[in-house]
Amino acid sequence: MEKNRITVVEGDITKQHVDAVVNAANNTLLGGGGVDGAIHRAAGPGLLAECRTIGGCRTGDAVITRGYRLPAKWVIHTVGPVWHGGKSGEAGLLADCYRNSLRLAIEHDIRTIAFPSISTGAYGYPIDQASRIAVETVAEFLKHDQSILEVRFVCFNERTYDAFERALKEHFQEL
Ligand code: ADP
Repeated sequence: MEKNRITVVEGDITKQHVDAVVNAANNTLLGGGGVDGAIHRAAGPGLLAECRTIGGCRTGDAVITRGYRLPAKWVIHTVGPVWHGGKSGEAGLLADCYRNSLRLAIEHDIRTIAFPSISTGAYGYPIDQASRIAVETVAEFLKHDQSILEVRFVCFNERTYDAFERALKEHFQEL
């Protein structure tokens, strides 16, 4: 069952003991504020050095690096869409972030993965819509994949946690 493999916690993604953490990066991959800054600070300078060799990432795509000083072995960097009102393909791009990150995870035999709430900080995506897309996309992906054991949504505040819990409940009651 996909439901048992999706968890929601309130906490700091840099502290998660999972195979991979996902970074809500920007197109340059050279670090930024929010969760991106926190991941780079916790991982140390090796992470930025490896990111420099990649040369950037398109919105909706994902790339993978080592985790350096993080408890997680891997960091999957994905670039969420900036919210421009919802008519600029934001929903599709946000779903792409979750799908492409999970695809990379499978390719690297990653069994446990933690996501932050992509795009809902500086990029301004409304949390109710973003959490629904996150849950639906991950649940759909897990239907077709048995290798991933846990997808953990790590919410940095209570409002985000509540939105993800609600999205999870709504999604699995609808089925
Ligand atoms: P974006 O630019 O994609 O919106 P942000 O980093 O600004 O990315 O915000 C994305 C989400 O990550 C927000 O919900 C923010 O509160 C959260 N966040 C910030 N720091 C952390 C952290 N250390 N662990 C988990 N989530 C975090």
